[in-house]
Amino acid sequence: MTHLTDIQIAQANTIQHITKIAQKLSVDDDELEMYGKYKAKLPLSLIDDEKVAHNNLVLVTALTPTPAGEGKTTVSIGLTEGLNKIGKQATVVLREPSLGPVFGMKGGAAGGGYSQVIPMEDINLHFIGDFNAVEKANNLLSALIDNNIQSKTNNLNIDPRTILWKRVIDMNDRALRDITIGLGGTSNGVPRQDGFNITPASEVMAILCMASDLENLKKRLGDIFIGFTFDNKPVFARDLKAENAMAILLKEAIKPNLVQTLEGNPAIIHGGPFANIAQGTNTIIATKMGLSLSNYVVTEAGFGADLGAEKFLNIKSTFAKLNPKCVVLVATIRALRHHGGAKKEAYNTPDLEKVIEGFKNLEKHIENIRKFHIEPVVAINSFTSDTNEEVNFVIDKCASLGVEAVLAEGWAKGGKGTINLAKAVVNIVKNKASQFKPLYDWKSPIKDKIEIIAKEIYGAVAVEYSKLAQLNLRRIDRLGFNDFAICMAKTQKSFSDNQTLIGRPEGFTVTVREIEIAAGAQFVIPILGKMMRMPGLPTIPASENMTIDNDGVISGLS
Ligand code: ADP
Ligand code: MG
Repeated sequence: MTHLTDIQIAQANTIQHITKIAQKLSVDDDELEMYGKYKAKLPLSLIDDEKVAHNNLVLVTALTPTPAGEGKTTVSIGLTEGLNKIGKQATVVLREPSLGPVFGMKGGAAGGGYSQVIPMEDINLHFIGDFNAVEKANNLLSALIDNNIQSKTNNLNIDPRTILWKRVIDMNDRALRDITIGLGGTSNGVPRQDGFNITPASEVMAILCMASDLENLKKRLGDIFIGFTFDNKPVFARDLKAENAMAILLKEAIKPNLVQTLEGNPAIIHGGPFANIAQGTNTIIATKMGLSLSNYVVTEAGFGADLGAEKFLNIKSTFAKLNPKCVVLVATIRALRHHGGAKKEAYNTPDLEKVIEGFKNLEKHIENIRKFHIEPVVAINSFTSDTNEEVNFVIDKCASLGVEAVLAEGWAKGGKGTINLAKAVVNIVKNKASQFKPLYDWKSPIKDKIEIIAKEIYGAVAVEYSKLAQLNLRRIDRLGFNDFAICMAKTQKSFSDNQTLIGRPEGFTVTVREIEIAAGAQFVIPILGKMMRMPGLPTIPASENMTIDNDGVISGLS
């Protein structure tokens, strides 16, 4: 049991020199690029494709979450501690937190309780600077676009009204969503409407996370689709000769970052794309780095399994030829109560009937993971309000489906609390129960791919397209992007596109309102609802409760 806050637990822990952590991965001191004593970058030369193919990748995902989050990051870190405790060499590979949520509602994203990565202050507060590099690369392209429009001699004839590329900043700042730029006369640019997205929503972030190396990064940056000329020709970043300079700005950001867990196990933290309009998981390079250096890699994909796991498997794993050997489905009793109809005020009130009803949500996620020919393990992320009868119901019900469900107590106990979960995961891996198969072929038509996801994963009966989406489909066809992957943008609160449909909705239709193109990332983004790309701060932002003392010690960060 803990009464300390996350930051207090993290600060009370003795942190080891990063060279000690690197030793666990057999990485020599002089191969590390040091950023102080506790953070280092790993050179790409350490990636070894044979080891990537041989070692064991475990994906952590979750049932349909409540707004609080069900603990995927916490369970990922806890499971890594547990695996190390039972003698496996395991590394956790995670996304880097964005400053928006840190100062806004959700807080940091470095785990919680006794399952955290440290130094949590640095990890949560712009870390090594990769996000800043992404921001600069993104905004360089913006500056080049506006400069091109301004120029009389070097002009691509871009129609400013068609420009899709936006500027970014890593801050929740709603006042920047829609702005006018270029005011102030002829020497200050051509006035046009623009806006800022938050940095994780930048296509540069999605690209960094899909890239295999610097050459591939450059190619992808050049492929960014910007808009059209006045005579309706597509304009790409390469037309502005932007890709080399953008890649230069990312030369350090492309290297994964090594830190440690509370129990001194390796953690690689790299990249942070949004889970709604992007793939919501760390870089392919970081995952491969983990697998090159470690027998087990535990990684996480954002939101519930209908979004995060689907994209992790169909986009990332398929493109990078990764072969996840087990999926850990995080469930909480409170989320099951929610899916059984409990109101927010009653999430922490025991109610077996609601848990029984809410199990339908988890059952659909279990069925979905099996559609990829992967065997899931259910991790019941233990909360103090859970009762034995609720937990036992979940364990028994999962057993009747042939799935092992294990209580995960990493938040309260660290690695001691996840030994059973670690054993269950090793059991699936050792028995070779999984033979990963993607759900669709990238080469199929866009509409077929969307339909497969909507019907197989969401349980929809049909997909409808708005007029705009139909126009977008024709544009995708004209530009020759039919064989891109699908990066669905949908509410995380429901299997459907209607966030009020909890549990396991049936008989519904989903509507594709719009389809965006992320040509550098090589996916199209069907938008099934309004997607937020620049969140705002809440009335009382988390920043109000934070401080730093004269010795540089931070408090109030959660
Ligand atoms: P996700 O990655 O699914 O969004 P996180 O692991 O970030 O979820 O957890 C969300 C929040 O819930 C964090 O603040 C974390 O500290 C807290 N949390 C996670 N697991 C538990 C638990 N078992 N008991 C209490 N709080 C928890
Ligand atoms: Mg998380």
